Amino acid sequence: MKRKMTAVLLTIAMSITMTACSVRAEKRYKASFLNLFDTVTEIVGFSESEVKFSEYSQIIYDNLNEYNRLYDIYHNYEGLNNLKTINDNAGIKPVKVDRKIIDLLLFSKKMYELTDGNVNIALGSVLSLWHEHRIAGLEEPMSATLPEYEELLKRAQHTDINRILIDEKASEVFLEDPEMRLDVGAVAKGYAVEKTAHAIEKAGFVNGMISVGGNIRTLGSKYDEKGKKTPWSVGIQNPDFNSTKKTLHVLNLSEGSLVTSGIYERYYIVDGKQYHHIIDPKTLRPAEYFVFVSIVCQDSGMADALSTAVFNMPFEEGAELIKKLDGVEAMWEFHDGTKMYSSGFKSMIKIDDKEQNLCS
Ligand code: ADP
Ligand code: MG
Repeated sequence: MKRKMTAVLLTIAMSITMTACSVRAEKRYKASFLNLFDTVTEIVGFSESEVKFSEYSQIIYDNLNEYNRLYDIYHNYEGLNNLKTINDNAGIKPVKVDRKIIDLLLFSKKMYELTDGNVNIALGSVLSLWHEHRIAGLEEPMSATLPEYEELLKRAQHTDINRILIDEKASEVFLEDPEMRLDVGAVAKGYAVEKTAHAIEKAGFVNGMISVGGNIRTLGSKYDEKGKKTPWSVGIQNPDFNSTKKTLHVLNLSEGSLVTSGIYERYYIVDGKQYHHIIDPKTLRPAEYFVFVSIVCQDSGMADALSTAVFNMPFEEGAELIKKLDGVEAMWEFHDGTKMYSSGFKSMIKIDDKEQNLCS
């Protein structure tokens, strides 16, 4: 049964901005909910009424909720085969799944090829070891430990993405290797946001913004105080949380996506050193090149996959990849504070790059 979003902390608030332009009698609204993809979802957009905006928010919620359940590797849902079901049946039998799972897996395989294996959804057995150590280390910081390298190497033998067998006709997925596990943490949020953006656009919500834990996708434009159409403003978070400046840059972004992968989101500490959650498949350890990588492109699924992959690549290699991809821009921050930008990135930075909220 569908859970009504209102039951899960939906807050709708009409914001101060009203379009003065009489051509469009649309007002700006906001909504947020807390229970999807383990993070906060925020929606901002223009609509003719609060009721209409509520309807749009409900559609967005229902879509994201469905993707969240299908792509979940930690929970079972009654009557639903999801990624956990596939993992649980590794080496045992193929699992019949919704087309939305097949599509995500095919997309992820493409991203694997495009990024030379730097984002790999078949890395689950390696990632789960890091995950277990991180969770234990957060619970008991004094006895936090790193995974044994030998064990990581052993598990790395079971990460061959070609052993995810997909039967599109039968709509079945089989993990041929019994030790293999899927982990779609690097791609699923962005992919679900992109699909949801298409669904809501079709439903008539054409000027808005969806952010799932900072995975941002904008639709159309916003209206300024004078009722004039302008691009949405999206902020790149300052990784220095002690700074009074919340954003490093604010970008103009119409009909596009901004996704960041960084060391400051999820990590634990062992012997005074910070270990984050993005694992370089080449070293089987947290990648050490950057503080964060931000990607801007239209497709939010691609932005999500690329942000993780480019984070795992030396700068020159990542820059080369970004250069050859049409409509994709990137920003890198190194540990010494140096910032690098792809050629088209700076033209998206707002000229009045002043302090702003992350989404406005
Ligand atoms: P966030 O978790 O903030 O969305 P990412 O999109 O970079 O950040 O995804 C990180 C998650 O992806 C990790 O928590 C893990 O589940 C998974 N992951 C980590 N390293 C890799 C990798 N090299 N390839 C595929 N998935 C990865
Ligand atoms: Mg990602």
